[in-house]
Amino acid sequence: MNPTVSRCLSLDGAAPKVRAAMLGLIEENLRVLADALALRDWNFVVSPEPCAPQFNAQIEPVFGRKLATLRVRADFLCLTPHQQRHSLTHELLHCHLAPTQAVAREVLPKRALGTFTVNLEYGVDGLADAVAPLLPLP
Ligand SMILES: [Zn+2]
Repeated sequence: MNPTVSRCLSLDGAAPKVRAAMLGLIEENLRVLADALALRDWNFVVSPEPCAPQFNAQIEPVFGRKLATLRVRADFLCLTPHQQRHSLTHELLHCHLAPTQAVAREVLPKRALGTFTVNLEYGVDGLADAVAPLLPLP
């Protein structure tokens, strides 16, 4: 066996039981990280639908509720443990900022909202860079 060949599973094409197990692993890891990030009172659903391919993951908090849906790329489990932890940390940090983002969506003109969103992403990612290394790996 060639040790340089990566052996990981993609959600695409995985048998239903394998796919459910993979999503379960991601959900379990998400829960651990959420608890560590003071999101113990939030509930999360890991969607079987993949996120847009240009992202590792995306989260959609439900307005007014401590509930969010996470989508990951189909080959999320092929990312390194460090990448998985950073991606999930980044998405979870968005939950803390969801109310701020909701207000911005309501009151900012389109162009300002675009700038706000880009700056929010820089901030969230900077926080994830700082915090993720302190959290457990999957
Ligand atoms: Zn983000």
